[in-house]
Amino acid sequence: MGPKHESWGHSTKVSNLDAFLMFFSLATSPISVIYTQVVCTHYQCSLSAPFFDKQFSLGAVLPQPSLKGGLIYAGWVLFQAALFTFLPGKIGYGQRTPAGHLLPYKLNGLSAWLITHVAFITGSLCFKLFPASIIADLWGPLLVAANVYGYIFSAFLYVKGHYFSSHPDDNTFSGSFFTDLFMGIELNPRFGELFDFKQFQNGRPGIIAWSLVDFSFAAAQYNKIGYVTNSMVLLCFFHCLYVIDFFYNEDCYPLTFDIAHDHFGFYLAWGGAVWLPWMYTLQAHYLLRNPVDLSTTAFTALLALGLIGYVIFRIANDQKRLARGSDGKCTIWGKPAKFIRAKYTTADGATHQSLLLISGFWGISHQFNYFGDLLISSADCLLCGFGHPLPYFYIVWMLGLLVHRVHRSETRCQAKYGRYWDEYNKVVPWKLCPYIY
Ligand code: NDP
Repeated sequence: MGPKHESWGHSTKVSNLDAFLMFFSLATSPISVIYTQVVCTHYQCSLSAPFFDKQFSLGAVLPQPSLKGGLIYAGWVLFQAALFTFLPGKIGYGQRTPAGHLLPYKLNGLSAWLITHVAFITGSLCFKLFPASIIADLWGPLLVAANVYGYIFSAFLYVKGHYFSSHPDDNTFSGSFFTDLFMGIELNPRFGELFDFKQFQNGRPGIIAWSLVDFSFAAAQYNKIGYVTNSMVLLCFFHCLYVIDFFYNEDCYPLTFDIAHDHFGFYLAWGGAVWLPWMYTLQAHYLLRNPVDLSTTAFTALLALGLIGYVIFRIANDQKRLARGSDGKCTIWGKPAKFIRAKYTTADGATHQSLLLISGFWGISHQFNYFGDLLISSADCLLCGFGHPLPYFYIVWMLGLLVHRVHRSETRCQAKYGRYWDEYNKVVPWKLCPYIY
């Protein structure tokens, strides 16, 4: 069953080109991840080396499945599902959905992150139950298992969306099988009242893995060269800061694009299982094979760049949370917050109000929080030096992702707020970075 009538957030028009691109992405997404795994494992992270290797044999370099890798991966997902289900946590609320639902979210990510990392570090370093480099050692078989899980989970979401949807009035059907499978049908698929599949998949096997994978690659670097480079330490610090910040502010997550606006299909399900843990940690893979010892000046400059980015990112997100949470009754940078009170209508015909902040960082550009994120991403890449282009994948990806996200947000907010969005555009013309975009 689809929504009662067309409204913002229920985009159903898909061109043949879009449908083809979805099919293409579904069929080829793992190739890029597997390629990076192959070049890192066999060619010291050189993207071009396989093309010049006369002895190149696909069968010899492709990651292979293994029972151990499969069992560890299954155990990892089940362990995270158990923590998500049983750890206590406060309840936060999401954004009102296009059909008018206001859903509760269980917020226990920080304790799940802590338990996971303490268990991993004590289990490997104190009790010697497994080597701390286990994730790096089993990278190939784990990649195979994560891909299988990502595809099966996406198929499950497609079937669930059709036959036992949690909130059918928020479903989107594009008319294209591949688009529905890729972008998702359901907005907030759930099991029971609180097991939100999208929150779980992105937040737990995805984001918790991020810092854990880095630690394991740092341990593998120690095993290989006898010490951990300062570049690896800085990378682990930046990623930990980002991940801990994410869970510390988990109450904001249900209000962000992933949860509030993106439907749940292959894009996020496979993304959380494979893309995030593999591609967002590429710098750690690189530094294992190509250790970089930063000079004190370079280390300090990169630390400063990452921290400046983080401060912008955090303050901008806090300003929005504060302004919306207090209904505009707050001060920003010492002055009463300025905002536009915007009205919008949900699919059930009810009219609601929202607040578009025009003070602080939100008066500089529509998404200055993304600019801060891009500075952090640049620092993550630059600490790998200039030996190979591969570690720079992350900044290129983030730039594409966030510019595309700005575009999607503009289209959606224009449809949602209409003339109020026009008014906002007049006051704040820049989308991301003043004088550039
Ligand atoms: P935001 O949390 O900034 O949410 C964007 C939405 O905010 C808009 O669509 C609009 O939706 C609302 N909004 C727009 N303008 C205003 C305004 N002036 N005042 C108040 N609300 C406004 O973006 P994301 O959810 O994409 O990102 C959250 C954070 O996560 C960011 O800091 C981003 O950098 C980071 N991020 C990181 C990624 C990664 O892979 N590392 C990927 C994506 C994001 P509405 O009005 O409907 O609420």
